[in-house]
Amino acid sequence: MTNTHINRSTKAVWAGEKEYRAFGATQVPVVHSVAYTYDDLDHWYDVATGKKEGHIYGRNTNPTLQSFEEKIRILEDAEAATSFSTGMAAISNSLATFLRPGDRVVSMKDTYGGTNKIFTEFLPHMDIDVSLCETGNHEEIEAEVRKGCDILYLETPTNPTVKITDIERMTKVAKEVGALVFVDNTFATPINQNPLEFGVDLVIHSATKFLGGHADALGGAVCGRKDLVERIFHYREINGATMDPMAAYLMIRGMKTLHLRVRQQCESAMKIAEHLQNHEQVDQVFYPGLKTHPGHDIAAKQMNQFGGMFSFSLKGGMDAVRQFLPKLEYANRAANLGSVETTVGPARTTSHVENTPEERAALGIPESLVRYSVGIEDTDDLINDLEQALASLPKTASVQN
Ligand SMILES: *Cc1c(COP(=O)(O)O)cnc(C)c1O
Repeated sequence: MTNTHINRSTKAVWAGEKEYRAFGATQVPVVHSVAYTYDDLDHWYDVATGKKEGHIYGRNTNPTLQSFEEKIRILEDAEAATSFSTGMAAISNSLATFLRPGDRVVSMKDTYGGTNKIFTEFLPHMDIDVSLCETGNHEEIEAEVRKGCDILYLETPTNPTVKITDIERMTKVAKEVGALVFVDNTFATPINQNPLEFGVDLVIHSATKFLGGHADALGGAVCGRKDLVERIFHYREINGATMDPMAAYLMIRGMKTLHLRVRQQCESAMKIAEHLQNHEQVDQVFYPGLKTHPGHDIAAKQMNQFGGMFSFSLKGGMDAVRQFLPKLEYANRAANLGSVETTVGPARTTSHVENTPEERAALGIPESLVRYSVGIEDTDDLINDLEQALASLPKTASVQN
């Protein structure tokens, strides 16, 4: 199913499944078997050496995982895709496949916390130089790439202030110096953004978030050119960050409703962000759908919708956040995002817990910033829930701390 005139919503439901069904069942089976049996030793040998199709051992390949990989591959319009136990495994394995001592990575300050740790804590020990630019400062990224770069690593929109980077413009400069371009597309999902269209080499997902969508399975995926994905697959099959078959099944099931969930989440995010922008207790609202957001025009150019994530700060500072968050009835106060349930958390205990207050300030993250991952609940119910929680705050709260 590679037909380009099939819409992504239809692909999300059907793609990658038929080839992996068995017994006439309408759903893909969860193949838990670790190994596969062969009576004919020559056949076994041919499969083991890649001459014939088939499976040998679960760390290498598994039919349920392949069905998930095929679904995400088709949704990203990629030549190939492979899967991982987590999003971080997808990121670390992809970087490790291509980086060698002496190489140079250019990225940005606002990448996902785990990714930032790879850049600041682990890669430097392997003699890999990492240059982290101000997120959204396109001139700085261009200048750093032109100094020499093996991998340009982007994430857009970012956590937690949903900053936007121009994928097409950044990919162009990376190609000038022969760098590979990776984009973490977790926040946008393939419904809202398809980085491969802009010449990006590899798209990475934490499937744990929007793809699975139900906060009940961990997983990751990488999509892109076949020759590159095959090398990453080989690294993964040997190093062992393999997805669990049950998780793959939950991803497949979750992705069938991806377009519906994301549509509702984007619609609600826009309405709620607009609503909060005018609220007396709210200081700032960060959402790329708002015309006041610095990345709005770029987001409008490269995204189909503006996403289900936004953040906002309260005039009453951290004291207000402490009072306000527990009052929300229809939100989990948790570190996750992209689920059917609304999920909230302060940036300083979720995405940027490792940073000092000074570092957060330097990153433009107010101490009282609340990250809001919109679920699929009714929009008005979410607005009313926020209203009642904000109404509980003292009227005079206007001190910044
Ligand atoms: C959560 C997340 C990751 C890491 O994914 P895990 O599945 O938790 O390992 C990477 N990038 C982004 C943008 C994320 O939100």
